Amino acid sequence: MDFSTSQALHKEAQERIVGGINSPSRAYKGVGGGSPVYMEQGKGAYFWDVDGNQYIDYLGAYGPIITGHAHPHIAEAITTAAYNGVLYGTPTKMENKLAAMLQAAIPSLERLRFVNSGTEAVMTTVRVARAYTGRDKIIKFSGSYHGHFDSVLVEAGSGPATLGTPDSAGIPQTVAADVITVPYNDLETFQQAMDQFGEQIAAVLVEPIVGNFGIVKPFDGFLQGVKDATHNAGSLLIFDEVISAFRFTYGSSQQIYGVEPDMTAMGKIIGGGLPIGAYGGRQAIMEQVAPLGPAYQAGTMSGNPASISAGIACLEILQGTGIYDKLDFLGARLESGLQQKASEAGIPITINRMCGALTVFFGTDDVTNYDQADASDGDAFSRFFWLMLEQGINLAPSKFEAWFLTTEHTEADIDATIEAAGKAFAAMA
Ligand code: PMP
Repeated sequence: MDFSTSQALHKEAQERIVGGINSPSRAYKGVGGGSPVYMEQGKGAYFWDVDGNQYIDYLGAYGPIITGHAHPHIAEAITTAAYNGVLYGTPTKMENKLAAMLQAAIPSLERLRFVNSGTEAVMTTVRVARAYTGRDKIIKFSGSYHGHFDSVLVEAGSGPATLGTPDSAGIPQTVAADVITVPYNDLETFQQAMDQFGEQIAAVLVEPIVGNFGIVKPFDGFLQGVKDATHNAGSLLIFDEVISAFRFTYGSSQQIYGVEPDMTAMGKIIGGGLPIGAYGGRQAIMEQVAPLGPAYQAGTMSGNPASISAGIACLEILQGTGIYDKLDFLGARLESGLQQKASEAGIPITINRMCGALTVFFGTDDVTNYDQADASDGDAFSRFFWLMLEQGINLAPSKFEAWFLTTEHTEADIDATIEAAGKAFAAMA
């Protein structure tokens, strides 16, 4: 494949944009560096780059794209918003509609607020929890990524883990001192942390289904155990469902596992591909937020008509019959095909899958926490990534990321991907 135009653009970008990219994982650091591919058009499950190469896309823009690129229903919603004015600075009736759709799907959102990114959503839940409890410390789980605000870049995963800089520079020690990190899926260590710090803990922040060191599910009883211990200490439970909301079911992991948190942060899919975030939870807690309460949070772009319209359109598509069954069916087909090709080639892999999202870990048996994900073979993943890219399969450039299917992927796309993987595994053997 010829990537020369991408390479030239990246060269120019490095003279203008710091690092040549506007979000670190796009720099392909997780796969040994090199020039990222510059995409020019997306339609359905496909991408075309600036050199005219075509790809089947599994990046899904790191999660927001679940109905395929340029879905006509979402495109129409965005176009209508563009012609009606993209930003008013006043409330609009569309905000009520999207709020009602979210509340119908996720009943724990007694009150909610729209913001512009997952980072903003999580950041505000932490502030509100601190306001409500009058406490400062938070507990999070190692390897989970919750955005780039100070408190959660303490031993974070995703981009930071790939870059090997779990603690960002520029974060005061005093901030880090208020953050306790424990391993995911380890109730005993969590309980010990609560025993030691419980009375100082404002909130426990958890990705109920992990998406940021690969797809990792909670053990049976883990989320309920976390909730019980959290509430016993008078702390609040926050679910970061920025990836998981509407990814695995129409709703969130709260519906899948039957555990409701006090607050939830969302983003990605609920904006249909446009910038969005939302946070919400129990009414008494949410009434801490300005103008009702003393916890301040605001946003010029919050609830903008374009993002809200795109979000409504996206959820309308996801309400269609059989959508998540189809994602699960395709996900299962992909999982078993990849597994078979890998064993034929004698390449040891483990696949973690939930519905239409999966992660392929190389050289490891079981991945149930960050250390196990971290121990997987990054060099093997890198080789696989480039071998797949050369065959027109666009994966996320990191061993910690997920493959995201969309409603537009077909069985033929899956089978072509499995064929390409077979060749990649054979070349690696
Ligand atoms: N929380 C989770 C679980 C995420 O996966 C992400 C982004 N990958 C964020 C928060 C931050 O969202 P954003 O990039 O929209 O700020």
